[in-house]
This record gives sequence, structure tokens and C-alpha cells, in this order.
Amino acid sequence: MKNIHIILVETTHPGNIGASARAMKTMGLYSLRLVNPKIFPSADATVRAAGADDILSEATLHETLADAVGDCKFVYGTSTRKRNLQCEVLSPVSMAGEISKFIYDNVNIGIVFGRERTGLTNTELDLCDKMIAIPANPAFSSLNLASAVQIVCYEVMKAFSVNEQTTMIDMPKVIPVERAELERFYAHLEQCLIDVEFLDPDKPRRLMRRLKQMFNRIGMDQNEYNMMRGVLTAIQEKIRQR
Ligand code: SAH
Repeated sequence: MKNIHIILVETTHPGNIGASARAMKTMGLYSLRLVNPKIFPSADATVRAAGADDILSEATLHETLADAVGDCKFVYGTSTRKRNLQCEVLSPVSMAGEISKFIYDNVNIGIVFGRERTGLTNTELDLCDKMIAIPANPAFSSLNLASAVQIVCYEVMKAFSVNEQTTMIDMPKVIPVERAELERFYAHLEQCLIDVEFLDPDKPRRLMRRLKQMFNRIGMDQNEYNMMRGVLTAIQEKIRQR
């Protein structure tokens, strides 16, 4: 499970970082990525890690979520709220079942957790392929950050131990391109849409967000990615010739 990265975005309380590290280690997960934590390292974090300080000392620091998920092929964002998003919302069990299929494939997977008070921004959610919502009391659905990490890691651990024991049916697997590559595709797509005057940069509306959500849902693999980049380049060349 070394390729599963738990990513905490702008955590305010260092104690929550420590408690999340502890939650991870109890479930056999080790890779922690921190995006702009308010205070880190911190004695509070170490105390709450209660022996999981190895995870804290190996945690990597990132300035943006885009940087933290750049090498990931699947990115899941956790959220208590169902916003007006077109992306799939999974339970922790379904997400764990999905990622456990990649147990032998060495693909990087990111699971993103938001700020204590405000969760994740829309721009951050756009970097996620799918959402995870932990089923909870609809009138009181916001768990403590480390408790949310615990539940998600528990499901991952359970799914992986089951999959390790059973021989998996050899289903064809689509392994998407890395996030950083996908972001380059989005920039190319945007430029191309401006070139063909479908997108007005002064009045962009929600076009790029909706296109990103659509492509996030598809999860393009490397061949599809190369093909789409080729399509965009061909369109741009034709415009230039004219
Ligand atoms: N007021 C914030 C709550 C943040 S709770 C909001 O509405 O978004 C801090 C983080 O814990 C969340 O960003 C999410 O990563 C995780 N979390 C808490 N409860 C959750 C739930 N029921 N399902 C999924 N993630 C949850």
C-alpha cells in the first residue's frame, strides 16, 4: 500500500496531523503528504501520533494540491458536502474496492482531505477524479479530520487484505495518465477552444470546469491522452494555415 498517499490540505491543528498519522499507521498506510500545513513540525503532532512519528518525519511538504497529486493516476477527494458537481461520489468501501484492483500495478493513488473548517475548495475538487463521502448523520455529517482518515484507511486495509488472498479475475484495467499530464492537457484544450473562438477568455463561464469534470470522469489512459493531444494540435494547425 506504499503507493497510496494520504494528502492533508492546509490543516490548521497540528494535533490532527499527528492523529491522522496514527490512524494511517494502525491500518498499514505510510505515505503522508501535507499541503501548506499551518504549523508543522510540532510537538502537538508528535504527541498525537503516539508512536507514528516515523510517518511524520517522512511526510512530504507541498505548496499546492496540484503539486501533491502531480504523480497520481487516481485522485479521490473527501467531502461532507455534495456540491453541484458532476463527478461520482463513492462510499469509502466502494473506493477501497476500486483501488485494491491496482494492488500489483504500482500506480500512485492520492486520497485528499480538506481543512477542518472549510473542507476543500472547488478548484481543489477539480483536481480529484472522484469524491468519497463517509455515510453519516445527514444533520451532523462532518467528522473530525483524523476520524475521517481512520475510516478511509480502515476500508483500504480491509479491501487490500481480501484482494491479496483471492486470485483476481483478470479484468482489463484502464490506468489513467498522471495528474500533472492531465493538467497540461486541460491547458492545451483551453488554448485550442480560445483559438477556435468557442471559449471567450473574457467570459469563460463554467466551460472549463465542466469539461474537466467530464474528462476526470472518463480517466483517459496514455493512448487516449496522446490521441486527444494530437487532435488538439491538428485543430490548431488548421487554424494557423487559414
Ligand atoms: N465544514 C467542512 C468540514 C470539514 S471536516 C466542510 O463542510 O467541508 C474536515 C475534513 O474531514 C473534510 O474536508 C473531509 O476531508 C473529512 N471529512 C469529514 N467528514 C467527512 C465525511 N462525512 N465524508 C467524507 N469526508 C469527511
